[in-house]
Order: sequence, then C-alpha cells, then structure tokens
Amino acid sequence: QANEKESMYLVSEFARDYFHKTMLQTDEGQAIGLSYFKERGFTKETIQKFQLGYSPDVWDAFTKEALGKAYKLEYLEKTGLTIVKQEDGKTFDRFKGRVMFPIQSMSGRVLGFGGRILTNDKKAAKYLNSPESEIYHKSKVLYGIFQAKQAIAKQDNCYLVEGYTDVIQFNQSGIENVVASSGTALTPDQIRLVNRLTNNITVLFDGDAAGLRASIRGIDLILEAGMNVKVCSFPDGEDPDSFAKNNSYDVLKQYLEENSKDFIQFKADLLVKEANNDPIKKAELIRDMVNSISKISDFIKREIYIKECSRIMDITEDVIRSTLAQIEKKDL
Ligand code: ATP
Ligand code: MN
Ligand code: MN
Ligand code: MN
Repeated sequence: QANEKESMYLVSEFARDYFHKTMLQTDEGQAIGLSYFKERGFTKETIQKFQLGYSPDVWDAFTKEALGKAYKLEYLEKTGLTIVKQEDGKTFDRFKGRVMFPIQSMSGRVLGFGGRILTNDKKAAKYLNSPESEIYHKSKVLYGIFQAKQAIAKQDNCYLVEGYTDVIQFNQSGIENVVASSGTALTPDQIRLVNRLTNNITVLFDGDAAGLRASIRGIDLILEAGMNVKVCSFPDGEDPDSFAKNNSYDVLKQYLEENSKDFIQFKADLLVKEANNDPIKKAELIRDMVNSISKISDFIKREIYIKECSRIMDITEDVIRSTLAQIEKKDL
C-alpha cells in the first residue's frame, strides 16, 4: 500500500519533469507551450517555481517515454496520466496537447495535474484535472500551498482565489500567500489545511456575478472553523490574474487593502441591496444572516456582528437574538 502510493508519486514526478523539459527544450514545446505562458506574462522564474510544462500533441508521447524508462503501466493508469482503452488495451495520454500545472502537496510532492487546453474549442473542457486516486483527493488539496505556506504564516493571512493562473500571477506580482480551490466549492479539509498556518482568510472573487452567490454559501464553513473571513471582489470581467497582470504591485496591494471587507458586513450589504425593501425577501435575508452569525462560536465576535447586522439591515437587535435562539434550538 505504502509502496503503491510511493510508485504513484514517483511516476507523477517523472511526468512533471517530462512536461517541464518538453516545454523548455523541444521545438513544439517552445512554440506552443512556452509562448502561451509568455503571452500570459509569466517569466522563466515563475515557470520554474511552479514547474509548469507542456504535454505534446501526440496520442501517446508521454506514455511511451514513461514505459521506456521502466515506469509501470499500472501506475500510469492509476494516476490517470495514461488512459487505457477497455476494448483493445490501447494507451493514450490524458493531457495530450495541454499546458500543465502540477498540483503539489504541502510538502511538495506531486499529487496530480491540471491541464489547460490551448485551442478555442468550446466543446472541450478548458481545464482537465487528474482523476481522484490514492494520492490525489481533490477535496483535500489547495493549489499553490507548497509555494505559499511560509508566506501565509508570516503574513498571518491567506488569499483564496479560484484558479491556477490567479495563484501564479499573484506570486509573480510579489504576493505569495495565495492558494486556489481550483474551481470547486471550499471543503472543511481545505480549510483545515489553511487553518494550520493562519486564522485569517481573504476570499477573492472573479468579477463575474455568477460565482458570487455560490461561493458565499461555502464561506459559512470558514466561519464554523472559527476563522476570520474577509472577501474582496474584482471589477467586472476581471479576475485576480488579469488584475495583477495589468497593474503594478502598489496598485494591486492598495486595491486589496481598500476593497477587502469583513464577510458578514459584505454579505449583509449584498443581501440588503438584493432584497430592495421587499418584505418577504427581507425576512429571508435576516434568516440567512442570522444563520451565518450562528456559525460563530466566539461570543465577543457574535455580539459585534449582531450590532453590525442590526444597523445594516435596519432591524432591532432583539429580533436578531430571538431568531438566533430559534436556529440554535433547531440545531440541537
Ligand atoms: P484562465 O484564465 O486560464 O482562462 P481561470 O483560472 O480564470 O482560467 P475560471 O473560468 O475562472 O478560469 O475557473 C477557475 C478555475 O476553475 C480554473 O483555474 C480551474 O481550476 C477550474 N475550471 C475552470 N473550468 C474548468 C473546467 N471546464 N473543468 C474543470 N475545472 C475547471
Ligand atoms: Mn470564474
Ligand atoms: Mn478566473
Ligand atoms: Mn483567468
């Protein structure tokens, strides 16, 4: 069992090195992969730091290379790097023709990959990830945690973004305390990972309203873990990657400072705007807010939030307190 996992790590690390070398040293890799990352503004150092790579646009180029180096098909298949067709046993590279983002554990082992497509094919998934395996559990990893861990502890704060490129562009801008949930809703295991390093998290949203409501639901989990949560959204059509690429470090830093809001206040403001004085919606929003407050176990923090919410939602503290009592009774 331990051997099997180690074999999976080793083949993943071989793949990481192969994709990286292929991008830097082959004509196809330079012309397609490297120039793609350069266009996104990534420097050689950044490409090195995140061990980015390119998987050739040939059916089984990687698989052949790995088998030639005596890596076993069993582990290539178990890590999902190679797809073996049931009918005839033919083998294919899962990530053929994609630029590669290795996903590392807190200690730097390679657990899996994200691969981005380079064509504008609307039918194919933009990002493809390694499948769940004995070494890759999507719900337990955060992209960038290996590069971020020291900075998170030192800054005593962690920025949480949506995607790989947001993490990388922030690093290049000089902000290293950043990790990504990679498009999935935040899980308790991911929160625990961050909570080992800091009690403070700032969630950065892409500037598309679509994700906002969904992400907001997941944030109650961070409150439940007893962490302090701030949120910050980006201008329409921008994400942390594009904003960091188009602005200087100073402008980025200032934007984050000026636009990071306490989560409870942010949510209350947003809901009040949405309710727009409709009494039914307003009743719902009060329940929703009180529900968030009920996740906070620290009594002092709770008191502060009860007062804040009473002000923002324009209702008495008594109403909030009695709703809180109702919710807690139901939870018992
Ligand atoms: P890019 O800037 O390269 O277009 P992004 O990171 O801004 O990518 P988003 O659309 O904001 O992409 O998605 C955020 C994250 O969600 C991605 O980094 C990726 O981890 C994940 N994701 C996006 N699209 C897919 C997909 N089709 N399949 C699986 N995961 C995806
Ligand atoms: Mn998005
Ligand atoms: Mn994005
Ligand atoms: Mn983007």
